[in-house]
Amino acid sequence: MRLPFTLLIDPVSADDARTDFHNTFHEMDSAAPALRVGELSTQRGDGVFETLSMVNGHPQEVEAHISRLANSAAICDLPVPNAAQWRSAIHYAVSRVPHTGQVALKFVLSRGVEHGPAPTAWLHATVAPDFAAVREAGVKVVTLDRGYPRGVAERAPWLLMGAKTLSYAINMAALREAHRRGADDTIFTTTDGFVMEGPTSNVIVLTGGRFVTPAPSGAILHGTTQQALFEHLEAEGERVVYRDVPLSELQRADAAWLVSSVRLAVPVTALDNAAMPVDLARTRAFNEYLLARTE
Ligand code: PLP
Repeated sequence: MRLPFTLLIDPVSADDARTDFHNTFHEMDSAAPALRVGELSTQRGDGVFETLSMVNGHPQEVEAHISRLANSAAICDLPVPNAAQWRSAIHYAVSRVPHTGQVALKFVLSRGVEHGPAPTAWLHATVAPDFAAVREAGVKVVTLDRGYPRGVAERAPWLLMGAKTLSYAINMAALREAHRRGADDTIFTTTDGFVMEGPTSNVIVLTGGRFVTPAPSGAILHGTTQQALFEHLEAEGERVVYRDVPLSELQRADAAWLVSSVRLAVPVTALDNAAMPVDLARTRAFNEYLLARTE
């Protein structure tokens, strides 16, 4: 089977005890129409998703992605995903696509068709863009005000901060704004001056000999790549910290990275037009570790 690969999934309830889900999977021609016009995912961006990376046939951080899907679904009042079914769908897709190079595997749980009885779900695997050069060259970043203060997730849970929803129009607009300002990417900040995340990534800062990332307080996504890197760094004897990161600390950092599942770790080379120190040796070591993960 070639890429892209598309699988429609009939989502079963979380307490469905079956172990074989094959009759809930429907392989689709990726070029053929697959969704109905009443789909709330397309009409309202009402659904949640995950994108994981598969490297040389190994899907990475499957369990972390499935549990984050469940967390996003809970925040959005969507039915609890059946973890065994999603695991099975991912492994089914892995068995059907080529096992060389990097593949991006996106899976979606939508609220379904308007007035319809059930959620809809699908999985879509594509060749990952070649990010090898950007992992070396890094990205110029601008900071953009996300428009909310720290603590917004607790005060206004209906904003669905911390859920990976399909509503990425704001994230894409922030990337366009970065491009307008001559940069490659964005780091969102709170109105009170704290670092949040990128539109498609988490931020890791090297400061005072520690690797620091903003605490996942509910206002940002708890990144699977950031968590994997922190576990790895801790095992290597490094000190890793979750806490609030004031923008002034990022500006003075010894190095900073944007990290995400498919692009992996990219160094920040400039922040709001000021050059940032780049630690190329550590960047290479991060990506070597991330690419070598077999689960
Ligand atoms: N934050 C946002 C808003 C994202 O969209 C993503 C990934 O797309 C991340 C963080 C990084 O998460 P992960 O490392 O699990 O890909």
